[in-house]
Amino acid sequence: MNKKRKRLLTGDRPTGKLHLGHYVGSLKNRVALQEQYECFFIVADLHTLTTKPEKEHVAGLAANIYDIVLDYLSVGIDPQQSTIFLQSAVTEEFELNLLLTMLVTLPRLARLPSLKDMARAAQLDEERLPLGLIGYPVLQAADILLPRAHLVPVGKDNEAHVEISREIARRFNRLYDAEVFPVPEVLVGDVPTLVGIDGQSKMSKSLNNAIFLSDNEKAVEKKVMRMYTDPKRIRADIPGRVEGNPVFIYHDAFNPNLAEVKDLKARYRQGKVGDVEVKRKLARALNNFLDPIREQRAYYEAQPGMVEEVLVVGTRRMQTVARKTMELVYEAMGMPSLKLRRAITRDVDFRLLG
Ligand code: ATP
Ligand code: MG
Repeated sequence: MNKKRKRLLTGDRPTGKLHLGHYVGSLKNRVALQEQYECFFIVADLHTLTTKPEKEHVAGLAANIYDIVLDYLSVGIDPQQSTIFLQSAVTEEFELNLLLTMLVTLPRLARLPSLKDMARAAQLDEERLPLGLIGYPVLQAADILLPRAHLVPVGKDNEAHVEISREIARRFNRLYDAEVFPVPEVLVGDVPTLVGIDGQSKMSKSLNNAIFLSDNEKAVEKKVMRMYTDPKRIRADIPGRVEGNPVFIYHDAFNPNLAEVKDLKARYRQGKVGDVEVKRKLARALNNFLDPIREQRAYYEAQPGMVEEVLVVGTRRMQTVARKTMELVYEAMGMPSLKLRRAITRDVDFRLLG
């Protein structure tokens, strides 16, 4: 592996299967940048606990973790080249998270609009927000800074969080007069926020408005046929709106046949095409897009234990990287515990270490 490559970190909460929104928001960039960057992909199970700490959700984590890793492999993340790891199995995540909480204020975190969105989604009023949920972006900073990442490909909703990571990285470096952390750059996907099939809000695992990367052909057709379009267009001969229309947003994002999309748009605007034709063509484009992903999925599914193996190898690799970073962190801070830790791991007399 080329040592000089810059590092990239991003990931997902194991709250369900990945969907087209994840693809355009982040997965596409991950696959494209795999060779250029040394990539770390985190399955962020601790982040799931911030809104779903209940036992029944914890019980569901294992299956969701498996699904997400399989989704990664299916879209073309190469486990030989990239590191896929489980957040809670890297104890340095907990360590760094605590240290970073000293470097950010509560009002800064409380002001984030994403906090309100997450609270609303979890049906929590302000008085009942757990400290862990308010600290979500700090834990995310720990995720990003632990591999000392330079680049973070995420969807639009995560941009403000990466800004917190940048502030924390700068603050750490300044406070301890060291260059431990690169200030990470955010990279938002070419569709910053993909709308759901309901046309109302962001496609999300939890809103029942997603087309999953693992959906079969029939499921895709069914979902596309019930997609929201221009509500004012009650008949095919009424001119329709293309802008902001989810069917065309998806055509633009997933249909490589530009001439077909152009023709459909023109006829839609003139009231010369029915929704059914536009949707049939979209379903076909989506299924063409998903076919190679399905093939990869079948390949990995046919090999029992392979997904688990990928996670074990990746987590082990990440543990090594994380230990190195924590050494640099304690060293920069001048924490006395560093000397003691070294004495313990090397099994030498504490007094002999300078
Ligand atoms: P949850 O409902 O559990 O929060 P989610 O669908 O929002 O799930 P996350 O795990 O929070 O997914 O997000 C993972 C990554 O995918 C983030 O970088 C996020 O910005 C991106 N992402 C999620 N949904 C979309 C979307 N509809 N469009 C673009 N990017 C998205
Ligand atoms: Mg989310």
